[in-house]
Amino acid sequence: MDKTLIRKNITKVYKSLVSFCNIFLPPRCYHCNKNLNECEQILCFKCFSNLVYADMDEETLKKRYGLINLVSHFVVCFKYRQELPIQTLIHKFKYQGNRKAGQLLMDLYLKHIDIYQKFKDIDIIIPMPSHHRKKAKRGFNQCEIMARCIGEVLGKPVMTKAIVKEKNTPSQTTPGINRIENVKGVFAVCDANIIKDRYVLVIDDVITTSSTLKNCVKTVYKANPSKISVMVLAQVA
Ligand SMILES: [Zn+2]
Repeated sequence: MDKTLIRKNITKVYKSLVSFCNIFLPPRCYHCNKNLNECEQILCFKCFSNLVYADMDEETLKKRYGLINLVSHFVVCFKYRQELPIQTLIHKFKYQGNRKAGQLLMDLYLKHIDIYQKFKDIDIIIPMPSHHRKKAKRGFNQCEIMARCIGEVLGKPVMTKAIVKEKNTPSQTTPGINRIENVKGVFAVCDANIIKDRYVLVIDDVITTSSTLKNCVKTVYKANPSKISVMVLAQVA
């Protein structure tokens, strides 16, 4: 039997197994845990309709997050709100590495914002770095996963070694931490040659006060890029 036929048979068996399991263990909504019907995936219709898109224009975003004169474009897709489906999806993606949640978030991002139009001129993509200890513990950096997805869409390289995170700070979505104090001097340029004279797209997942993002952008800026733009998954409303 050739390899293609074996692969086809494995896919068939897998699909049958999934359908069989769905009869006894129907998939449930990630957020409200209700059984999903055939037309629903990951979220039920009600939770899906509770995903709120960010509505700030780019200039307002730059002003609010202190990035005027530092960045060219600044786009955010969702409003992040505790207890709502967006929090569930982002937490599943960010802390558990749930691929389906990440895929849904990225699919919706690409449907909602024409990133090709905005970022077709960029040279490289830099995901918000994660401290090596945090990455080792989680096994992944969610911003890197997002960056790889965007890199594929735009056909641009993802650079993970240009900037490093030197201090291990608490997550921006952890409530009650002193975020401003926590981010001073966190990032360092590791390889300025990667950034120099290039148009850089920085990718982050959730922004709160933006201190982390601002510090990361300022660190990139020190390495003399030609331009910087920013793409964020969600902003805390
Ligand atoms: Zn639901």
